Parts: sequence; C-alpha cells; structure tokens
Amino acid sequence: MERIYIGLGSNLADPAEQLRSALTALGQLPQTTLAGVSAFYQSDSLLPGQPRYTNAVAALDSDLAPLDLLDSLQAIENDQGRERLERWGPRTLDLDILLFGDRLIDEPRLKVPHYQLQERAFVLYPLAELVPEDLRLADGRALADLLAACPFVGLERLAHA
Ligand code: ATP
Ligand code: MG
Ligand code: MG
Repeated sequence: MERIYIGLGSNLADPAEQLRSALTALGQLPQTTLAGVSAFYQSDSLLPGQPRYTNAVAALDSDLAPLDLLDSLQAIENDQGRERLERWGPRTLDLDILLFGDRLIDEPRLKVPHYQLQERAFVLYPLAELVPEDLRLADGRALADLLAACPFVGLERLAHA
C-alpha cells in the first residue's frame, strides 16, 4: 500500500461538480481508499481566454501499480467527457499523479513527481493541507521550500463541499 497524491482540475461544465464526481470515482477504484481531500481552490487559467479553474488534491492509499493507476485516472477523465483537442486546453477534468509513495518515475507515459509541481500554487497549497509539514519529495526537495518559493497569489480557497 502506498500513499499517492492526485491533483484534480476542471474549468468546464460545472467544475466543482466535476471534482465531486471524480472524487467519488477515485473512492471506487479497486485496491484503493480515498484517504483525504483538500479544500477546493479557484484561480484564473494560466492561458488567457479560458474559464477559471477549480482545483483540489486528493490522497489515496492504493495497491495499484503506477501505470494501472494512470490508466484508471484517464478512464475517469474520459468518462467525464475529457476531450484532448489542444495541449493545456480547457477541460472537464484533469487528474494528475503528483506523488506516488517514495517513487521517482521517469517513463514515457508517467513522470513522478509531477514535472510542474513547483510552479503551481493551485497544486502546492492544496497538497500542503494533506501532508506532514516536513514532507520531502522522493527527489529530496522539501515541500516547505517549494511553498516558500511559490507565493499564494491569485488563488481563492473555497469551503469544500
Ligand atoms: P500538465 O501535465 O502540464 O498538467 P495536462 O495535465 O493537461 O498537462 P494531459 O493532457 O492530462 O496533460 O496529459 C498528457 C500526458 O501526460 C498523459 O497522456 C500522461 O501519459 C502524461 N503524464 C506524465 N506524467 C504524468 C503524471 N504524473 N500524471 C498524469 N499524467 C502524466
Ligand atoms: Mg495537468
Ligand atoms: Mg493531466
């Protein structure tokens, strides 16, 4: 069993409802328990002209292998109407594996820790709600250092429902 953190994001078709549906689906994955959920956060899209995003982070305890989990996450994205028209385009649901136990994964389909974790306040701040304060990533970086270098700017923390 390993502790896994998933970043959830949506900016189409009632984003908060998309996140709630995805959380239900994550809780129903085989060999997996949903162990925690952050608050939901809203922020402007990094790319101009897109609707605002709603993001959250979920903690899973799972015996699934990393690529099997990725397959399952992509199936949930597809079930919720994810269309891949352009890179970083608007989406009903994005599910990214942020951290997977103590693993460093560098495969064509899967890089963990997620490559842009350190640049994304909408990932780091919800993640920080769920982890011990002294968390170190598998590559040795301290989450506290990443937070200190990534200001809480443009994020709106919502009561989660
Ligand atoms: P970004 O990766 O910048 O957040 P994105 O989430 O919009 O962009 P997607 O279209 O969801 O990108 O995924 C593109 C590919 O990224 C997927 O097909 C998957 O194989 C790959 N990928 C690599 N590492 C990860 C990861 N840690 N979690 C999820 N997908 C990953
Ligand atoms: Mg993503
Ligand atoms: Mg993705």
